[in-house]
Amino acid sequence: MPNFRLLHLNLSFKTALYFTFGLFGMIVSFLLISRYFFLYSVDELESMEISAANQQAQAVIQIMVKQQEKSSYDWAHWDETHDLLKNGDLEKYRDRNLYIESIDSLDLDMMGFITLDGIVLDSLTRELDHNESNTFVKNVMLQPQLKHHMALAGRKVDIDRESLSGLFKINQNVWILSLTPVRDSEGVSESSGWLLWGRNLTLRFPGDFKSILSGDNVLNVIPANESSSGVVNRFEKTANLIAKSSVLYDVSHSPIATLTTQAPRALYKKSSVLFIYLLATVFVAASVIAAITLIIFKKGVSNRFNYFASGINQIASQYQLEGSRSVDADELELAIKLVQKISENSSVTESQLKDSLEKFAALYQSTTLGMLLIIDRTVIDANQKALDLLNYQRAEIIDQPLEQLWGSDTENYRVTEMLQALKNDRTQLDTQILDRNGAKIDCLIEATTIQHRGQDALMLLVQDQRETKQQAQIIQELTEFDPVSGFCNRPIILAALNDSLINHPKDFSFIYINSDGLKQISEVYGHHIFDQAIQYIASLLRTQMKGYQIGRISEFEFIVIIPSNDDYQHAIHAANTLLAHLSHKVEIAGLMLSIDCKAVAVDPKITHQSLEHLLLVTRYTAQSIAGQDRTKVVITGETLSAQAQTSMTLHRDLELAIRNHAITPYFQPIVCMHTGNVTGFEALARWIHPRLGVVSPAVFIPMAEQNKLIIELGESILAQSYKFISQLNDQRRPHGSEPLSVHVNVSAQHFYHARLTSFLQSIIDQNKPSSGQLVLEITESMLVGSEKEVLQRMNEIKQLGVQLALDDFGTGFASFISLCSLPLDIIKLDKSYIDKIENNIRAKILVRNIANLSRELGMTIVAEGVETPNQVQKLKAWKIDELQGFYFYKPMPLKDVLEQFSTRWRNNQSINRESH
Ligand code: C2E
Ligand code: CA
Ligand code: CA
Repeated sequence: MPNFRLLHLNLSFKTALYFTFGLFGMIVSFLLISRYFFLYSVDELESMEISAANQQAQAVIQIMVKQQEKSSYDWAHWDETHDLLKNGDLEKYRDRNLYIESIDSLDLDMMGFITLDGIVLDSLTRELDHNESNTFVKNVMLQPQLKHHMALAGRKVDIDRESLSGLFKINQNVWILSLTPVRDSEGVSESSGWLLWGRNLTLRFPGDFKSILSGDNVLNVIPANESSSGVVNRFEKTANLIAKSSVLYDVSHSPIATLTTQAPRALYKKSSVLFIYLLATVFVAASVIAAITLIIFKKGVSNRFNYFASGINQIASQYQLEGSRSVDADELELAIKLVQKISENSSVTESQLKDSLEKFAALYQSTTLGMLLIIDRTVIDANQKALDLLNYQRAEIIDQPLEQLWGSDTENYRVTEMLQALKNDRTQLDTQILDRNGAKIDCLIEATTIQHRGQDALMLLVQDQRETKQQAQIIQELTEFDPVSGFCNRPIILAALNDSLINHPKDFSFIYINSDGLKQISEVYGHHIFDQAIQYIASLLRTQMKGYQIGRISEFEFIVIIPSNDDYQHAIHAANTLLAHLSHKVEIAGLMLSIDCKAVAVDPKITHQSLEHLLLVTRYTAQSIAGQDRTKVVITGETLSAQAQTSMTLHRDLELAIRNHAITPYFQPIVCMHTGNVTGFEALARWIHPRLGVVSPAVFIPMAEQNKLIIELGESILAQSYKFISQLNDQRRPHGSEPLSVHVNVSAQHFYHARLTSFLQSIIDQNKPSSGQLVLEITESMLVGSEKEVLQRMNEIKQLGVQLALDDFGTGFASFISLCSLPLDIIKLDKSYIDKIENNIRAKILVRNIANLSRELGMTIVAEGVETPNQVQKLKAWKIDELQGFYFYKPMPLKDVLEQFSTRWRNNQSINRESH
């Protein structure tokens, strides 16, 4: 399972991610919340501060009002002022006191002297001339509050008259006015009038006070048309500024102006920026923490999750839930599904349980399976079949100890042993139990532990095996014994031999007995007599070889095991007696039959070699036993074993050698008696074995015949030989030389093989234009059988332009006359005759006559095996056509033939033995 799926995150990863996101989210939201509260507090703080600043500004204005009022008393309680208003000596006063510098030093903008009746006696106003000033002051004095105050004061006792100070709106400016009663310097005289001081606040504020005020203050006069109700104290906040406005009232408590204090939001802004830094820093830190957490989580917790996930997946696949998994499902969802499935299953299980109970009840009534319920080695219950099997009544067996079924106390251990075996998971046990009469019953016991009323119980299922055992015995006899002889069959006796070989090599032996006669008996008299012959031999073996294990390994072969070297001589002696007996004809079913046995005993010295090899050696040895040796057991030892080994090797390698064309023809020239020229060659097969060297065809040809390889080998030799002669004649043709022939030996099997003619046709076709003459050498023995069939085959071959030669003439029994009727082209006189012509008169006559006769019949005579000049001389005298033998040439490989003869042919020289 991949650890990461794009859409399909696994549980561990998902959990780690959620956890990380959670952590990350928590940190960020905490930060945002704290930012909110922090900035909120800063905002509050700033609001408070600006309020304070605003109040401060208000206070400053109040102080200005108070101060002005207070200082005005100095002037109002000044005798000269008092005199001015009392006496009206204006000129003098003006000269001495009323000039602009004096109001400058008082920080005033206007000063007026008002009579008790409210007439402006004189005034001085900044930037106004005398008349303008008076007009202005008169105007000021029209202020209802001033008028009202003066009116009120008029009715009061003089000393109770008070000053009036406060803010006034004059010509869209805010003024601080103080109207102070003028008295003498003692302050006790009656007031002589009013001193009016005024300061234009709009012009002066905050100007002079900026340095002590915390914020920027702006004074705005409320326009006359604006309703006084809309004027309120309020805050104004922008991103950069915070402002607090408060209302200024005149002495009659009417709003006349707003005082706005504003300050840059430095703290708030700084805090915001700070927070952004903080946010960024924490964000980075949170990311790092989250990443570390993710890694740690993945590392530390992931394993557990993976373990969980793989467990869940495993169970899911057991429950075949994999497919039902949605794309974004994780292991938890799978686990939920699993739980659902399991709970579904458990309800299914319940119904299955019911089914099982019913099935069990049916089984318990079974008529084939005995059932015993055991608790603490005591029979608690038994079904009818068990009772029947053991011959008990129910009451007799219930509550009986298990030992009752498994023998007496002395055999007690068997019960323990059985229970132990059943406990050790060997749930099946082949055993015997006792029935009520003490008879032993073979049975197969199967045990299962079950719960019976809350107790551990053992359910024994008892199967009657008596019949099965009997059948098994019969089968064993059938499978292990040869029904005719009653001896062990092949696998059993070979297994016994193998046992001896493994357990005590060189200390045992066996005798191999093989009968050729039996084969003939089977062919001639049929199976019935054959079986009786076998039984005859078997009875002889049983008496002669008493006490030895005997087996029949094939129709005509027996093996007697001599288990130890101590018995060896005795067994050989007994076997010799047996052979002596069988060397004569014996009477079987009224017939006198020749059983003709050969026996080979294996020298114990070589019984450590493989069984396969030992059998091969004995067979090989038996094959080589000649007639008179049959009366005695032949002992086979190291030498024969080695020969057999060779033969085995050759057998093994032959097929491959043929396939790989490792068997090639050597060519032996045949010489014309008249001219001394070579007229042809005989192809003689040679096998150059990589380990054993040159192997004679006398060895491997019979092997190939036995192993059904002779056709393949024959075809190979034919093809190679024909190719050779075609090439040679192609070289010779330009020189006008006569074409030469090649003689190829064919085996009987090949001669009658269906493919021979088509094969010959194919090689002739392949080597066209062909000038080679092919001669097939056949033997007399191949010509026995139906004359018609033989003739047909010979004619088929001759029609292909192939000649036929009769090989080894004189060794068979066919009469020369009968052979003359066959379409033969060449007769090859066997070497054995040629050998005799020098000394044996009969041979001399025979050869001479055959030569004459065949000449008359138009057949060519070839003498084989010519070795001496004397032979040559005689054969020439008798006009034998062609000669072949070591005297002229030995068979030689193709390369040598070409080397030796091609030059000469090219020079058109004759090939003559005498010429070199
Ligand atoms: P064969 O057809 O009678 O061949 C002649 C045998 O005599 C050859 O033995 C040859 O080497 C040998 N020989 C020739 N001249 C002399 C001589 O002057 N003195 C002596 N002592 N021997 C001579 P080889 O080659 O061992 O062949 C033995 C037999 O094997 C042949 O007897 C033939 O029956 C068989 N054979 C050889 N090649 C083939 C083959 O290709 N196919 C078949 N089916 N049989 C073959
Ligand atoms: Ca031959
Ligand atoms: Ca021959």
